[in-house]
Amino acid sequence: MNPITHMVISWNTAAVSPVEKRDRILITLGGMIPDIDGLSILADLVFPSGYGWFYYHKYHHYLAHNITAIIVWVLFVLLIAKRKVVTAFLSFIVFHLHLLCDIVGARGPRECDIWTIPYLSPFSSALTLSWKQQWELNGWQNFVITIIMFAIVFIISWKKGYSPLEIFSAKMDKLFVQTLRQRFTHYC
Ligand SMILES: [Zn+2]
Repeated sequence: MNPITHMVISWNTAAVSPVEKRDRILITLGGMIPDIDGLSILADLVFPSGYGWFYYHKYHHYLAHNITAIIVWVLFVLLIAKRKVVTAFLSFIVFHLHLLCDIVGARGPRECDIWTIPYLSPFSSALTLSWKQQWELNGWQNFVITIIMFAIVFIISWKKGYSPLEIFSAKMDKLFVQTLRQRFTHYC
């Protein structure tokens, strides 16, 4: 799925958990970490190989979509989180939700373009996860999931008084929640 969908799924999970802002951000990032290997597309832009998106196809879903990446992230979370165990546990969960979402809905345009997840990479290639029914990245299923996740974002933001914008700017977050509450106060 696309990084925005992963972000809102992870933030929603963090937002309904008993953790404060910094830990919510760590959990949200935990659900986005796998796609850091998608930055390999920059290598294609800077060093074109002549074989299309060579580096992207070689390294995306390979470098950080694996158990090694989440172990490193969980260790980092244990160092800096306020509620260490809860935040590390939820980071682990949203990371795997990300992998699950990619397994079900990250296919390319052709039926055979199924993305696989080398779960034990880079130490072993023994466990490669995939699903034959994987739907297209641009499929309606991903669209529906994203809409539902954004609806939940609006409800949580309205109720709790913070939104995913807290990751980027406290000011923007406050303004968004204020606007949301003013807009919907009369109907609730
Ligand atoms: Zn991914």
